[in-house]
Amino acid sequence: MTTVRSVLSKKEAFNLPANGHPGSEKPQEDVVVNTWCPVPELPSTPQDGLIGSPELESNKDLLRLQVERLSAVVDIPTVSYDDNYDVDKDPRWHAFVTLHETLKTHFPRVHEKMDLEKVNSYGLLYTLPGSSQDLKPLLIMAHQDVVPVPDPTKWNHPPYESYFDGQWLWGRGSVDCKNTLVGIYSAMERLLEQDFNNTRTIILSFGFDEETGGFRGAKHLAGHLKEKYGENSMEMVVDEGGGIRTVDGVLYAVPAIAEKGFLDIVLTLNTPGGHSSGPPKHTNIGIMSRLVATVEDHPFSPHVDEHNPFWGYLKCEVENSPKKAEPWLREALEKKEDFADRLIESRGDVVRWSMQTSQSVDIINGGIKDNQLPETTEVIINYRVLPTDKITDVLKAVANVLAPLANNYSIAVQGSGYSQIDRGYGVLNISSLNILEPSPLSPTSPDNGIWNIFAGSIRQVFETSAGKVVPVGSLATGNTDTAHYWALTKNIYRFSPVLEGQAKGVHTVDEKIDMQAHLDGVRFYYELIRNVDGYRGS
Ligand SMILES: [Zn+2]
Repeated sequence: MTTVRSVLSKKEAFNLPANGHPGSEKPQEDVVVNTWCPVPELPSTPQDGLIGSPELESNKDLLRLQVERLSAVVDIPTVSYDDNYDVDKDPRWHAFVTLHETLKTHFPRVHEKMDLEKVNSYGLLYTLPGSSQDLKPLLIMAHQDVVPVPDPTKWNHPPYESYFDGQWLWGRGSVDCKNTLVGIYSAMERLLEQDFNNTRTIILSFGFDEETGGFRGAKHLAGHLKEKYGENSMEMVVDEGGGIRTVDGVLYAVPAIAEKGFLDIVLTLNTPGGHSSGPPKHTNIGIMSRLVATVEDHPFSPHVDEHNPFWGYLKCEVENSPKKAEPWLREALEKKEDFADRLIESRGDVVRWSMQTSQSVDIINGGIKDNQLPETTEVIINYRVLPTDKITDVLKAVANVLAPLANNYSIAVQGSGYSQIDRGYGVLNISSLNILEPSPLSPTSPDNGIWNIFAGSIRQVFETSAGKVVPVGSLATGNTDTAHYWALTKNIYRFSPVLEGQAKGVHTVDEKIDMQAHLDGVRFYYELIRNVDGYRGS
């Protein structure tokens, strides 16, 4: 098998649809083309006179240096709390000042040679202007914050006193994502030590509240970039995301090329009150309980088609790990069947949320006193919406499930297409919050130069030590800070350069990273920056 890019003529290559699946036109007969799962070529060596990353890693001091840097950063509790006040009103943000000082100490060249703007106090935006203004900048992201530690006594090593056991570095943020933060700084520092002479402008953008939605950090950083450079002004955006997994000896690098949408549906039930000694058959809480149970009895159904990035991943799996894939899967893909239910039956819930809009009843409030009938109950249900579904359809579907049941209790329904009149028994209001449409799809077609550079850089770093690497786009079931960056480029790749099994404890106890994974991460950013700098596509 060879890559599509090497054998297709330009005309043929452009007949490939944007999602990377083969078009109808046949390639030349004498060459075998893997159109089922095109794998990008390795990037050619940049002519920048810098050392290659294998040499970087063979430096014995590198491990010691990286343990030192990552430990220093992990030790600072830059925690995002859901109840944080604004940047000028909450002393808990001060940990970020300490972090910034530490970064300055450990990465002197970055701070000497790159322009630094602090956006909304703690957002860090570094710029290294390139010699050419014709090339769009490369933008690399990470976040500085971490999730809280509810009970440090459950940890084997204290979460903010990092510990290196010879293989693993333990501590909150070692995996999500102070490892990539330090990886990016370290790559940049090493490049600048060698007087890196970049043609393309390089921008590093580090938010500080990703774990609470990025509304103080990423939102302001992205807004600032839009103002400064305009929409669609970046060549590529790289942020944390999918990693590298092994199936039957083959490594699949699965950068997320799309994010699910986000929606909270708020149900507010208002009913007449009274003394609890003379209750109706169902109180407000009783009715709301039935409404919630009905919502849960009507989950969205799973479905999959070729517009879902997961489809492309499955094609690659069938092609490269045929022994592992279900015997029926190839044919189902060929015939473009919707096999979502079958695949869930075979693989369980791990694949479900790549093919189904999720629904999770997360918050309930109601009732205030034991001798008083509850007058108001509120429920918040969170939805993560498939790119092939629509937010408005989700809202409509939920309202249509709830309305008949509410009417059974003589409750009027208002909102989301309903405007029934209250006849004195109460009102169910259905509203929505925090709407984020599913993201656009980043290109992964074999004729897309920037995808080839990105995916080729993954192969370059990870194929050397660990066998064959197949880079293929995936769907992120959650959102990252990139949700604020969609207008800046269509080329957004969410990727954490870490092999499955080399990172543990994300968002829970005993978070730790295998330092080999961290070193690979440094190499990845180092090579990516060089390769993108050498790319002349646009
Ligand atoms: Zn993260």
